[in-house]
Amino acid sequence: MPASNPSEKILILWFRKDLRLADNAALSTAVDEGFRILPVYIREPGSAGTGPLGAAQAWWLHHSLTALAASLETLGARLVLRSGPADSVLSSLIAETGASAVFWNRRYDPRGIVIDRAIKAELSERGLELRSFAGQILHEPTKLKTGAGGHFRVYTPFWRALDGSGEPAEPIPAPKALSAPADWPESEALERWALLPTKPDWAAPFNDVWTPGEAGAHHRLDAFIKTGLKGYRERRDFAAEPHVSMLSPHLALGEISPASVWQATRGLSDDYSSEDTIHFRKELVWRDFSYHLLFHFPDLATRNWNAKFDAFPWQDAPDLLQKWQKGETGYPIVDAGMRQLWQTGFMHNRVRMIVASFLIKDLLIDWREGERWFRDTLVDADPASNAASWQWVAGSGADAAPFFRIFNPITQGEKFDPEGIYVRRFVPELKAMPNKFVHRPFDAPLTVLRDAGVSLGKTYPAPIVDHSKARDAAMAAFQKLRAE
Ligand code: FAD
Repeated sequence: MPASNPSEKILILWFRKDLRLADNAALSTAVDEGFRILPVYIREPGSAGTGPLGAAQAWWLHHSLTALAASLETLGARLVLRSGPADSVLSSLIAETGASAVFWNRRYDPRGIVIDRAIKAELSERGLELRSFAGQILHEPTKLKTGAGGHFRVYTPFWRALDGSGEPAEPIPAPKALSAPADWPESEALERWALLPTKPDWAAPFNDVWTPGEAGAHHRLDAFIKTGLKGYRERRDFAAEPHVSMLSPHLALGEISPASVWQATRGLSDDYSSEDTIHFRKELVWRDFSYHLLFHFPDLATRNWNAKFDAFPWQDAPDLLQKWQKGETGYPIVDAGMRQLWQTGFMHNRVRMIVASFLIKDLLIDWREGERWFRDTLVDADPASNAASWQWVAGSGADAAPFFRIFNPITQGEKFDPEGIYVRRFVPELKAMPNKFVHRPFDAPLTVLRDAGVSLGKTYPAPIVDHSKARDAAMAAFQKLRAE
C-alpha cells in the first residue's frame, strides 16, 4: 500500500537516456517534491531505443551506469538494475516497494515513444502519479513548427526557428542529497548483463580515449571550450586537429544535457569569436533537427525519406562491404576512418561523410548497411543522428546532399588531412609514405613505395574500385533513377 505521509511516498525515477544528476528535470522535481527516490535503470529487451544496443555503446553503457551508481551512492542512494519489458519491471517494482509515482525524462525514438505511452496510460489508470519531462534535446519535436504549422524538412529554417525561440533554460544543478526508501529492492548485478566484450576485449583501447559518465562529459566540455572551440568554424573539418568536442557519446546517453552544452558557450570572453560559438551551436542543433525528422518520420532508419530511392539498384556485395568495414579499401582516408571507428568507437565527422559516400556511391551498397554497421560500432550511436546522416549522404533524406555530390576520397584526404597525420595515425603501414602520396599510394612510383616499405596488395591493399569509374557508374544509376 502506498504510504499516506507525503515524505514517505516512494517515487521510481526511471533513468533512460539521461544518465546524469545535473540538469535532470525528472530528478530535481522529485527531490523538490520531497519523494523518497528509487533510481532504476531497465535493460529493455532488444532495444535501447530504436533497434538493439550496439556493441560499442554497450561498453559505454556499462561504464556510464557504473559512474551513475557511484554518484548516487555519494547522495545516499543506489541504482537498481532490472531487465525485462519496462511495463512488467515497473509493475513488479511498484508491487515490491509500494511506490506511488514514476517520473522520467522523455525519449523521442519511435519504439520508446510507443512503450512510454502505453506505460503512462496503464499506470495512470491504476492511480499512480506519472510525469515526464523534457531534456534529451533542446526543444520538443512538436514545439517548433513552420509558418504553416507543419514540421520542418529543411535545416536552415529549423535553426532559425530554434534560435529565435529563446535560449534554453539555465541548467539545473545536481541535487545535494536524496531521500532514499527505507528498504531497497533487489538489483541485478551489472556484470551479469555482459555489456563488456571479453575474449577478445576489443574495447580495451577505448579506455585511452574515453571517460564515460557525467564527470567525464563535463570534463570533455571544459577541455573543448579551453582548447578546441577557438577556431571551430575554420578547423572543425580537419581530421587530425582537436577542434571538435567529441561530446557525442556523452550526449547520446544523456550524461550531459544539450542545454548545458549550449549554455556553457554563453558569456565567454572576447577572446572567443561569436562565429565559432554560433557554428558550434548550429552543429548541436543538427542533433535536434535529426530528432525532429525521426519524430515525424519514425522509419527514418529503414525507409528512404524520398521514396524515389526505393528503386535504386544497390549492389549485393558482401566482400566489398567487409573490406569497407575492416578499413581495407585501398583509399587511405577511408581506411583511416574505418579503423578509427574500430579502435576508438568514434570517427571524425568529415571522415564519416567521406566513408559513407564511399560505401554508397563508390561501392553502390545500400546506405542501410552503413547505418547498421555504425549503430553497432559507434560509441555515440544515436537513432536519430545516425539515420538522418546516412540518408543525408545518400541523397534520399530530408534536406539531403544531392546524390551527385560524390566525395573524391583522394582530394578530400588531401584537403582535410594535408600532412597525412590522421592517415598515418590509423594506417601505420603508410607511416613512411611522403605527404605527396600518402592519400594516393597507388599513384606513387615503385621507388617511392619501396623506400616507404609499402607493397600494394601485400602490406597495404590496392584500391578495391577505381574511383573515377565508380563515380561514373553511380551517376549513371542515379540519372536512370531520375528519369524513371
Ligand atoms: P562537434 O563538432 O563537437 O559537435 C557538437 C555536437 O553536435 C555533437 O556532439 C553532436 O551531438 C552534434 N552534431 C554535430 N554534427 C552533427 C550532425 N551532422 N548531425 C547530428 N548531430 C551533430 N552523430 C551522433 O551523435 N550519432 C551517430 O550515430 C551519428 N552517425 C553519423 C553517421 C554519418 C554517416 C554521419 C555523416 C554523421 C553522423 N553523426 C552522428 C553526426 C556527427 O558526425 C557526429 O555527431 C559528430 O562527429 C560528433 O563529434 P563531436 O561531438 O566532436 O561533434
